[in-house]
Amino acid sequence: MGAATVTSGLIGRLKDIVGAQGWLAEAPELEPYVLDQRGWYRGHTPLVVRPATVAEVSAVVRACAEARVGIVPQGGNTGLVGGAVPEGQILLSTARLKRIREVDPVDFTATVEAGCVLADVQAAAAEAGLLFPLSLAAEGSCEIGGNLSTNAGGTAVLRYGNARELVLGLEVVLADGTIWNGLRRLRKDNTGYDLKQLFLGSEGTLGIITAAVLKLFPRPRHVRTAFVAVTSPEAAVRLLGRCRAASGDGVTTFEYMDRTSLELVLEHIPDTRDPLGERHAHHVLLELTSSRERDDLESLLEAALEGGYEAGYVVDAAIATSEARSRELWRLRESIPEAERVAGAGIKHDISVPIARVPEFLERAREAVLRELPDALVVAFGHLGDGNIHFNLNQPPGMTRDAFMAHMPGINRTVMDIAVEMEGSFSAEHGVGRLKRADLERYKSPVEVELMRTLKRAFDPEDILNPGKVI
Ligand code: ZN
Repeated sequence: MGAATVTSGLIGRLKDIVGAQGWLAEAPELEPYVLDQRGWYRGHTPLVVRPATVAEVSAVVRACAEARVGIVPQGGNTGLVGGAVPEGQILLSTARLKRIREVDPVDFTATVEAGCVLADVQAAAAEAGLLFPLSLAAEGSCEIGGNLSTNAGGTAVLRYGNARELVLGLEVVLADGTIWNGLRRLRKDNTGYDLKQLFLGSEGTLGIITAAVLKLFPRPRHVRTAFVAVTSPEAAVRLLGRCRAASGDGVTTFEYMDRTSLELVLEHIPDTRDPLGERHAHHVLLELTSSRERDDLESLLEAALEGGYEAGYVVDAAIATSEARSRELWRLRESIPEAERVAGAGIKHDISVPIARVPEFLERAREAVLRELPDALVVAFGHLGDGNIHFNLNQPPGMTRDAFMAHMPGINRTVMDIAVEMEGSFSAEHGVGRLKRADLERYKSPVEVELMRTLKRAFDPEDILNPGKVI
């Protein structure tokens, strides 16, 4: 099912549907579509279609469904789990569905097409004096359709939620080509199953998102960023509680960085420096924002930190007093993945546990992986405010890349086992795709897996949509 061979008849039909501007079939131009961004997965496809309208998406899906040929939808191709890599299926790029259909400052909504680049959606909101808060490293190239179908996370989840919480309505092309226009902009609509939520985070396996109504928010007028040294991960959790209590809803970002992640950045990323005078083992990048006309975030932040000093869990802090200074602090956090890449091969994890249990997770996971690989460099950082840690291992000096990477399956298992045992998730924000399919089977209960299969069968009985991914 969904695995029928692609005939030249189908190829011709698809080319006719999208027109001369809407397809690619030569090897060099297919390259960026068949290779994932980390270079882990190289797929293949006979044809990339780039429909420009929802009607064209619908016609493409209908033609493929009739021929029982699978389709892999792809946005900006910035995913980390191989979810958009084709394995012989037709690749459907949403890149030409580019219109921002409407920004409504009264409803606080933006209606956008799937191929809009995230940064352009943010800019359109800003132009209307509003905020679209989804923010992540790939925002200059990832597309909103991909963000929604993978339920992207990022650095403002603590305050505004994951991508799935930022959506009021969706337009979706279903597995037989039917268009579902669910582009409602209602804040209240309590009428049965919340169908849009099934498509959000389903990684293109239940339908292809072609447009969405997004929630916008008041634009922050005041921002204060701080880089804080704390005595331990427990101290970081205490500081989080203190800042949240003191600022109401004001903590937008609360990111943890251990010493090793900071060292990697200082060593490998040009023009970076430790904002604090002395070396510390644990750091937090935190940001408070306020959209009030008058707000004194600085004294609020200082009071919260002061309390932390007095109680002995905050050691030192640098508060940014200019936007340029704030950018510098952010750069330390945002450069960690790049610094890891430069430093060598990595074995990476994207786990979450309840926030209060993050310190225990860090301790147990570190101990367990060092037992297996005593020389590995543990690089732990991430969205502590969401209980989501990127717990990574970097290649130790003196060990070849291959020898190190041979440990990956064992280390992955160890770390995920610990997270799941602690009421956590084996994939907090990067999704399942191809990479974590077996993990899904292992870690979800049989009841959940069977419910997911039931949904897949109901929405896509011929297994046309992104076959071989997620479930
Ligand atoms: Zn992340």
